Amino acid sequence: MDPAKLLKYDQRVPRYTSYPTAVQFDPSVGPEQHGRWLQRVGPEQSVSVYLHVPFCNELCWYCGCNTQVGRHDSTFGNYTDLLCREIDMAAEFFSSRPKVTWVHWGGGTPSSIGVDRMARIMAAVQRHCDLLDGAEVAVELDPRVLSLDELARLPRELGVNRASIGVQDFNPRVQAAINRTQPYDLVAAVVARIREEGIADLNLDLMYGLPHQRREDFGDTVDQAITLRPERMTLFGYAHVPWMFSHQNLIKEADLPDGDERLALFDEALRRLEAAGYVHIGLDHFAHPDSELAQAQREGRMHRNFQGYTTDPAPTLLAFGASAISTLPDGFVQNLSAARDYMAAIGESHLATARGVALSDDDRLRARIIERLMCDFEIDLEAICGQFGAEVAQFAPDLERLAPLIDDDLVAVDGWKVRVLDEGRMLVRAACVAFDRYHAPDPERPAHARAI
Ligand code: SF4
Repeated sequence: MDPAKLLKYDQRVPRYTSYPTAVQFDPSVGPEQHGRWLQRVGPEQSVSVYLHVPFCNELCWYCGCNTQVGRHDSTFGNYTDLLCREIDMAAEFFSSRPKVTWVHWGGGTPSSIGVDRMARIMAAVQRHCDLLDGAEVAVELDPRVLSLDELARLPRELGVNRASIGVQDFNPRVQAAINRTQPYDLVAAVVARIREEGIADLNLDLMYGLPHQRREDFGDTVDQAITLRPERMTLFGYAHVPWMFSHQNLIKEADLPDGDERLALFDEALRRLEAAGYVHIGLDHFAHPDSELAQAQREGRMHRNFQGYTTDPAPTLLAFGASAISTLPDGFVQNLSAARDYMAAIGESHLATARGVALSDDDRLRARIIERLMCDFEIDLEAICGQFGAEVAQFAPDLERLAPLIDDDLVAVDGWKVRVLDEGRMLVRAACVAFDRYHAPDPERPAHARAI
């Protein structure tokens, strides 16, 4: 790695979990349009379902999720009732029963509402949708608040077969600085129970760029995570955006690693994960070579959606709960973010749609280009344009925008083929920006995470 070269591109760029990105969503897309778009969810498509639970026992100071502190049974009960009602309301628009291949519970901390309430929500999904054999049911877990008995119920009563645990860093000083005290032994006990219960696919999230992280210590965290033998690990870069998440003000900027140090942390983790046999997948995922994700990546079948890299090919994502974003055949829609606003809207018996964006033909074409670049690190613009009946010559200006990355040997262009070179992988999002017709960064209040 050549830090001086890479750091030139350490700017705020989208994570491209969608295109157009959420920054382009606007309030002109509301509940009525959302309802009309739901009518086009048809039987021929496989469908994914996302269920958002916006409560945590306490806030981690680095958190960039839509969540709030919630500890009251009455709140959990109301939210569960309303989430079920939202599913019932959305289903009134379906033209037939969707076939579900993938369910993801996210948050927040989904298990904070308790397994009984999660089961009620799952029953609401199954009232209106067919959960296909072999469907993936994934849940994000917080080892600090989940009892081992509750954990045991997840596969048995909800069909959970994938779990993800947020670790971030095992170092006590770092954990204190981010308000997330979670010792290795606690995580190891939960992982052991996950295995006993037959959940075969485990992901651990690690995070670099947190306060007080140092290269060697973070390497120790990575080694400890490796001892738990997860099938996948995700290595996120901390995005310090206190103007978007005010609790991040509790993290002192002076304690944060600078660009050079962030690069060194990533490099250390990468080195140790690869030495342990993990394959670097996409921007920030690592997987066993024989895992489904690694296989999908090798075969060009990997996808990227709001949950990051996935093997899930479903073109439609029905998302329920506060702030949840659905991907529908006509466009993206996002629910109201604040739990109380979401609950008030559903309580008034209308969809809680806050904003969205209709997809143009150009959006669909560029979405494919950006997704393939993020997943495969190479694209053949001529072939993709051929699939869309589009004229490839229109991308000549986009290729010109790649010139600095080409000059720095981070990207190679051959005719209409673009390839992100090994040293440029970390900057794949900077390459995607060249194909993003909306990208207009606001230097005062950037909406995106740093490239490194
Ligand atoms: S547990 Fe996860 S969602 Fe909840 S505050 Fe911490 S990081 Fe955010």
